[in-house]
Formats: sequence, C-alpha cells, structure tokens
Amino acid sequence: MLEVKDLHASIDGKEILKGVNLKIEKGKVSVIMGPNGSGKSTLASVLMGNPVYEITKGQILLNGEDITNMSPDKRAKKGLFLSFQYPQEVPGVTVSNFLRTAYNSITGKEISVLDFHKLLKEKLELLKISDNLSKRYLNEGFSGGEKKRMEILQMAVLQPGFAILDETDSGTDVDALKIITNGINTVKKDTDMGILLITHYDRVLKYIQADFVNIMIEGKIVKTGSQDLAFEIEKKGYDIVKAV
Ligand code: ADP
Ligand code: MG
Repeated sequence: MLEVKDLHASIDGKEILKGVNLKIEKGKVSVIMGPNGSGKSTLASVLMGNPVYEITKGQILLNGEDITNMSPDKRAKKGLFLSFQYPQEVPGVTVSNFLRTAYNSITGKEISVLDFHKLLKEKLELLKISDNLSKRYLNEGFSGGEKKRMEILQMAVLQPGFAILDETDSGTDVDALKIITNGINTVKKDTDMGILLITHYDRVLKYIQADFVNIMIEGKIVKTGSQDLAFEIEKKGYDIVKAV
C-alpha cells in the first residue's frame, strides 16, 4: 500500500499541498481529479521525491516504510513509478538504451542485450509502438500521443508496484487512448500494480475501472467517491464539491 498522511508541501515558501490524505492499494485504481492548479502534479512530484518541493508536514509510506525523505532513485527501486504530464526529451539517448539502463538499475540485474530485446519487443507490441521509434532518441520529435505511449512502455518494462500516472490520457486521440489504457490494464492484471490516476476527463474511465475517485481542490482532497463521482463532476463541474 502507498499511503499519504497529512502531506503539506511548499515551493518558494508558498504552500501548494495543504494536508493531503490518500491510500492507494495494490491492484486498485485511485483517481484524482481537480481543477487546473489544484496541486495534482505537485502531489505526483512530491510522491516521487522531486527535491524542488519542501515537505513541511506529513508522511509518505510505501508498504509501511517511511519514504518521505528518500531520493527518487531509491523510491523507484522500491517500486514507485511516475509517468510525467510533460515527458522530457532526451537527445542522444535511444529509447532502447534508456529502457535497458533503467531496467538494470531498477532490478539490480544485468539483463543481456538479447534477452532485453525479447522483453522490449513484447512490450512494444503491447503498446503498438514501431521498432523504428524505439531506435530514436527518447521523446525527441515525438508527438504528444507517442510521448504518452512511451511513458507507459517504460512502465510496462519496469513493472512497478505502484504507478502514478499524471494526465497520461491528455493530448491523445481516441485510438491512442485505447492503446494506452489497454497497456495500463494489461500491466495491472499481470503484476497487481496499484495505480494513482490523475486525470481531467472522465473519458479515460470508460477504459479503466476506477475503485476510488478523489477530488482535489486547492491542495486538499475534498471528496472521495466511486466512479460515479467522476461522471457527476464532468456533467456539473467542480461547484458541486466546492459547495460542500
Ligand atoms: P495541477 O497539476 O493540479 O494543474 P500543479 O501541481 O501543476 O497543479 O500546480 C499547483 C500550483 O503550484 C500552481 O499554482 C503552480 O503554479 C504551483 N507550482 C507547481 N510547481 C511549481 C514550481 N516548480 N514552481 C512554482 N510554482 C509551482
Ligand atoms: Mg498537472
């Protein structure tokens, strides 16, 4: 279980997260929705250990272990994964080299080039990514949809215990959305991974079954419900929870 307890975080002295409480269980999908600027990406970054944010109060527990002050690479080794809202371009590093290096580093094993290519081929097929793309530099010149698929490819290769997916559905057309969500569902089924799914739209919930839907406003979770809560928000807007 990934557990967030009364988490407060600031940047440049400005408090962004104002007491977030959250539990993400293995094999379950917890969704976070919220208006722009409510702190969703900040929460994702803080969970992964981005040092630009200062945690002023609260705790992050991964399977009972306090990881609040752990470095991002250690968190990754413990099975935490973040798919970025805005994936970075890494010129000079091919997709395939990047993924193999990440795989070796996370698992602590030295997989042979041949075995890795077998693994990669299977995952490329899952995400309908061409062999060609995997030979190019990571994300350089990739379309928005290709970058998002690349994030999920990374997840499929690394098989984390918990994945934080920050608007992985944004900026994708319906075909790419189907491929991406199929990839997420497949990895989840194979590994019993827990998912924190940050999204703006309920359309992704047509393809991914949410166990919990949390609404974040101004740095706090103000309401938790079932999948229906997401559909209600989509119809009526965030005013319905602001009034509470
Ligand atoms: P969301 O993902 O919900 O749209 P963000 O977490 O990206 O929201 O942003 C929440 C607030 O924190 C915004 O007001 C944003 O400007 C501020 N913020 C986030 N990251 C930084 C940063 N690195 N530097 C300055 N302000 C930031
Ligand atoms: Mg965001």
